[in-house]
Amino acid sequence: MAAGGHRGRASPRRRRDPPGLPVPPLRREAAVTPEIAVIGGGPAGSIAACALARAGRRVVLLEREREPRHKICGEFVSIEAQGALAQVGIDPAALGGAPIDMVRLVHGESAAESPLPFRAYGFTRRRLDEALLDAARAHGAEVIRGASVRRLHAADDGFRIEAEGSEDLSAGTVFLATGKHDLRGFKRDTAGTRDSLVGFKTYFRLPPGERRALAGAIEVILFAGGYAGLQLVEEGIANLCLLVEADRFEALGRSWDALFAHLLATCPHLDRRLGDAEPVLDKPLAIARVPYGFLHRPAGDEPHGLFRLGDQAAVIPSFSGDGMAIAMHSGRLAARTYLEQGRAASLFHARLRRDVGPQVRLAGALYAASRSGLGRRALVAACRLWPGGLRVAAERTRVPVHARLA
Ligand SMILES: Cc1cc2nc3c(=O)[nH]c(=O)nc-3n(C[C@H](O)[C@H](O)[C@H](O)COP(=O)(O)OP(=O)(O)OC[C@H]3O[C@@H](n4cnc5c(N)ncnc54)[C@H](O)[C@@H]3O)c2cc1C
Repeated sequence: MAAGGHRGRASPRRRRDPPGLPVPPLRREAAVTPEIAVIGGGPAGSIAACALARAGRRVVLLEREREPRHKICGEFVSIEAQGALAQVGIDPAALGGAPIDMVRLVHGESAAESPLPFRAYGFTRRRLDEALLDAARAHGAEVIRGASVRRLHAADDGFRIEAEGSEDLSAGTVFLATGKHDLRGFKRDTAGTRDSLVGFKTYFRLPPGERRALAGAIEVILFAGGYAGLQLVEEGIANLCLLVEADRFEALGRSWDALFAHLLATCPHLDRRLGDAEPVLDKPLAIARVPYGFLHRPAGDEPHGLFRLGDQAAVIPSFSGDGMAIAMHSGRLAARTYLEQGRAASLFHARLRRDVGPQVRLAGALYAASRSGLGRRALVAACRLWPGGLRVAAERTRVPVHARLA
């Protein structure tokens, strides 16, 4: 979804799907019958496809986008994410990612900074997701681009999949990795999550002095009603990714231009960095209702053999910078569970909740603390007094060491 010219009007209204859909006959006989269909070629789906294909399984991956494109993301590639990428031969450093060694927390004129416990990279999703799809192909998965899955029907012996832009498919097992996008009839139960935020991502060319000042750091800038992340990616471009409460965006007429002007007027740090910067995109990408804190718990009627990966299984507040790592961890864990235990998806979902539940909850609590002016001031003051606190928070909101897969 794009914002600005207002295709991207982010509506806070919640849509409900019916709990299940009747199984109609296939539009035509399924032409393709892989053992496993992976729906969605983001980090979760591509990594799962690599692992399954490497084990010799027949995997088809359906990705709705035909071409590389930008995605909403802060594009902070953590050490855990780098580990998962290395397993499939992708090295963001070698591909020109911008190194990041420092985290800087900013509120008003006050800032606290600390070295990161690892070297991260800023690397665009446009390139990263393409590299992942290439890796899935290289590992032996069949990747079908431009295939947008419209319907998924569960039957006793597996699934039937209807996709626009591709033949119908039958598959014994489905890895559902559509990220933030729910398939009709398979909507995530996000009740109880904090889904009142609207997210934006765009790029800027900074003046040389500001680019030098930002180099090597991820800056997290707290403001009333949300927070922004600013960091360099390839070729010295800066990624600005921010989340704002929907009611505040509404109060600004749901206009990106008004929101951006408001942020420059109220955040001196952002004004310094971006006041004279040149936008790279015509308008930012936008997304509404990001369900922070979501952890999938399969309902009793969830079909056997349906593995939900990535943001379909767990959504951590984005400032942790570990969402991609969690997505890739889920992809590898789902593949491993399938290879060792067959279609028992509930075992995978329970293990994933154990692996990442505490991190998702802690990140949610930190975000909640930053929502009041007092909380924001206290967080920055505490981190100034004890810069190690930033490091500890960074460590405790990531895929834990004991859970990482060899
Ligand atoms: C504002 C924001 C900032 C973030 N910043 C960071 C960060 O800096 N670092 C980090 O590690 N994480 C970050 N995250 C989290 C990270 O972006 C996600 O956790 C991660 O992308 C999840 O990966 P995924 O594979 O589950 O889904 P996605 O990356 O969303 O991929 C899903 C794929 O499925 C495809 N698809 C969707 N529907 C269909 C369909 N019907 N048929 C076929 N294909 C379909 C899509 O085209 C897409 O390619 C951020 C998230 C947000 C919202």
